[in-house]
Amino acid sequence: MLGQMMSQPLLISSLLVHAERHHGDREIVSRRVEGDLHRYTYRDLAKRARRMANALAGLGVGFGDRVGTLAWNGYRHVELYYGASGSGVVLHTLNPRLHPDQLVWIADDAQDKVMFFDLTFLPLIEATAQRFASVQHFVLMADRSHMPADSKIPGLICYEDLIEGASDQYDWPVFDENTASSLCYTSGTTGNPKGVLYSHRSSLLHCYGCALPDSTNLSARDVVLPVVPMFHVNAWGMAYAAPMVGAKLVLPGPALDGKSLYDLFESEGVTFSAGVPTVWQGLMAYTEEHGLSFSTMKRTVIGGSACPAAMIETFEQKYGVTVLHGWGMTEMSPLGTVCALKASHEDLDWDAQLKIKSTQGRALFGVDMKIVDENGDELPWDGESAGELMVRGPWIIDSYFNRKEDPLVRDKAGLGWFPTGDVSAITPDGFMRITDRSKDVIKSGGEWIGSIDRENIAMGHPAVAMAACIAAPHPKWDERPLLVVVKKPGKEVTREEVLAFFEGKVAKWWIPDDVVFTDEIPLGATGKMQKNKLREQFADHVLPTV
Ligand code: ADP
Repeated sequence: MLGQMMSQPLLISSLLVHAERHHGDREIVSRRVEGDLHRYTYRDLAKRARRMANALAGLGVGFGDRVGTLAWNGYRHVELYYGASGSGVVLHTLNPRLHPDQLVWIADDAQDKVMFFDLTFLPLIEATAQRFASVQHFVLMADRSHMPADSKIPGLICYEDLIEGASDQYDWPVFDENTASSLCYTSGTTGNPKGVLYSHRSSLLHCYGCALPDSTNLSARDVVLPVVPMFHVNAWGMAYAAPMVGAKLVLPGPALDGKSLYDLFESEGVTFSAGVPTVWQGLMAYTEEHGLSFSTMKRTVIGGSACPAAMIETFEQKYGVTVLHGWGMTEMSPLGTVCALKASHEDLDWDAQLKIKSTQGRALFGVDMKIVDENGDELPWDGESAGELMVRGPWIIDSYFNRKEDPLVRDKAGLGWFPTGDVSAITPDGFMRITDRSKDVIKSGGEWIGSIDRENIAMGHPAVAMAACIAAPHPKWDERPLLVVVKKPGKEVTREEVLAFFEGKVAKWWIPDDVVFTDEIPLGATGKMQKNKLREQFADHVLPTV
């Protein structure tokens, strides 16, 4: 017997319709590439998104076609999120930090018909436009006064002209909720990037999950500043969740340095933010240097790579900002786990709480997870056994765009699980701790040593700005941990002092064998440390043998 409730499809356009009706006056503030601050409301956004939907149709973009964006977090990008996806077009956000060859490859794989881009990327597009074979129109996301006088880009369109030329009367179409809404490619550290094709249903369910109290706890009283880019995994869902709850949205544009972010946090009364640890390092260096504190910030999600305990401690103890350590992947829309304490943890002392807060946290409702050994057999949730983390759920990938092979692993019951490539352990009460990316694990004499714990400890040293732990070849043990350290500006520390800092914190054989100092650790397009590059750089490093 079927239930007798309305089967209304979950569609992205409904978020905007809701925001316009219930939170029409709530502001969206954007720092533009042009340099100034732009303000308008959800009502204005809804109107311009409708114009965009009409404009796309006018450009010949139809249901299921892909349009690409190369853009920072800003209101025009949000208009495309809704104008494209809302009308059944697939919004393909490209990561402008990727190499131009990769961007061309990705746009071709996606068969993008239109490419929208911010002013920042005008030189990039001018240099590569001819290579984007499927792209029929290039649109510069600016007004007429910022259009180049003699652009080499054939038929370059001005975004504001496009919007002004289109009607604001548009009825959002109703279609199957499993229709594709947006496309994002993994950063592809090895091989070509792979496309993850989200649906309206997966995006909406992820959005509900995102806003739950033990996730981001977003509300109509919040002011949200996503530092995490709208060009990678939909800014962790923030551009959908803010209109869903009626939160004010503050978009930082291209200015992601400590001062610009801090100024925006303070001037706009930001209460909630989200970003990767490397961004917060820049922000905290700025606040520390100038003796500043946060007057409105209450909490922030930190994820994308492991958040060092020292960062959580500074945020919470010094600035009174609650850190929600989160974990996820492009293939997971991205949120999988968030670390919020349980009732039983409330009376623990700070050190015990910090230990829990440093884990990647608990699965959101909607995400099933398990850990397995090399034979695929499930490992116990005892907090110690570590194995590959597998996930399943309605906002987790089923198959990659344009690829025939099935990425899922079937269990005995025939259920498909997505292998994350992360190695983790889970406590009996469900707190998941990533010990490593499987390709970064250090295999020492048949035992696995996770790199993340060692980095975490090193980054607790007052003179260490950043640390990466990588495998270095060893004649007896195959591999041993080598710690690559960037010192804080003006601080001194020796190899021996760093190694001594580990004593008493971990078993002796888990202490790195050596420390090397470097000026910079290479970061990938999504702000993660590129340990593969470091492994190449230090491939010939000779570890001390005693
Ligand atoms: P990419 O496109 O590079 O795969 P993703 O943003 O999808 O980038 O990255 C997902 C990966 O990032 C995860 O599989 C995991 O290895 C790492 N990651 C994300 N969040 C965390 C975290 N809180 N702690 C440790 N690793 C994390």
